[in-house]
Amino acid sequence: MNQDQAHIGTKAVWAGEKNHRAFNASQVPVVVSCAYTYDDIDQWYDVALEKQPGHIYGRNTNPTVEAFEQKCAELEGAEQATSFATGMAAISNIFYTFLRPGDRVVSIKDSYGGTNKMFTEFLPNIDVECVTCETEDYDEIEAEIAKGCKLLYLESPTNPTVKILDIERLARAAKAVGALVVVDNTLATPINQAPLTLGADLVLHSATKFLGGHADALGGVVCGSSELVKQVYHYREITGATLQPWDAYLLLRGMKTLELRVTRQQTSAMQIATYLQGCDLIEAVNYPGLPTHRHHDVAVKQMKGFGGVLSFALKGGMDAVRIMLPQLQYANRAANLGAVETTYGPARTTSHVECTAEERAALGIPDGLVRLSVGIEDVDDLIADLDQALAYLRAKL
Ligand SMILES: *Cc1c(COP(=O)(O)O)cnc(C)c1O
Repeated sequence: MNQDQAHIGTKAVWAGEKNHRAFNASQVPVVVSCAYTYDDIDQWYDVALEKQPGHIYGRNTNPTVEAFEQKCAELEGAEQATSFATGMAAISNIFYTFLRPGDRVVSIKDSYGGTNKMFTEFLPNIDVECVTCETEDYDEIEAEIAKGCKLLYLESPTNPTVKILDIERLARAAKAVGALVVVDNTLATPINQAPLTLGADLVLHSATKFLGGHADALGGVVCGSSELVKQVYHYREITGATLQPWDAYLLLRGMKTLELRVTRQQTSAMQIATYLQGCDLIEAVNYPGLPTHRHHDVAVKQMKGFGGVLSFALKGGMDAVRIMLPQLQYANRAANLGAVETTYGPARTTSHVECTAEERAALGIPDGLVRLSVGIEDVDDLIADLDQALAYLRAKL
């Protein structure tokens, strides 16, 4: 059987594993060696020159890390992948690999908080001009692309506003001016969205989130053609934001259940979004699966499922959030997402903690916006939990 033809849930279990086993163990080993030893000096040299497979030094490559990279590449349908200590390392390393003084980047206002900081602080420091457009304003985005740019950076769905961008349409505009198209696929996961088939050149993840799925390992990954990924790898191998073997193992193990988890999480997210929409204490619910979502049609076109993340704004803003959130029983009130546990976090303490109140306001993120990353618990318990917390809030108003 040709494993390339396997369904994605099967690939999540098997991809990248077989070439990286040892001692007949059925699981990929955690190789913690910093360096690799060679009695044959010529062989050592051949490995160093990549004429033979093998490893030299842990900042460059590692067998456990390589298994993780291969699994990611296969899930994204990419030729190659390279990994990083965190998602932000993946993002910043892409920028520093391809951008030079005088270059121009076009992106959106709703990108991840850390990414937005790259646009407002670090890239301008090296004379890279960064234009962040209104996220759903295609006229503005396409006009800025048409002025010429080196790189178009997209995120869909966005975190935490869960807006949807038409990746295919914008990638086409970027190709017309010869720009590199980079997509952060963290919220969608490879289960739901394949940006490379929509015209992206590179797709990246904060593996810390859904890929790992258990909130116990940080990591990042970039997938794409060998030609591009090799360049990003080269920047990383020298500058050193390397994924650690133990984290690579935890991510690998987490990924085996990726499809199971995401399928469950998005079925529950849809039910919870519908429940919240019917609640009088809620001002707005953002979830691309809702027919009322502004770009539900685009989500239907480019995604297989709508993901496990939604956000909602409580009437009464941050004061109401302070009353309601502590009442929840099945909830981590925490900065991460994509875990097996249901996780709640106001944008101002999570995705956009790096931003000032003014910056968040400029990004259109209300102070009382709460991100809800739905876990794998039974959805009836999650809805009952929300119900009692909202009843408590109602009694306090
Ligand atoms: C968390 C996150 C990142 C950053 O990843 P880290 O692993 O925390 O560095 C980037 N993009 C999105 C969409 C995220 O949710």
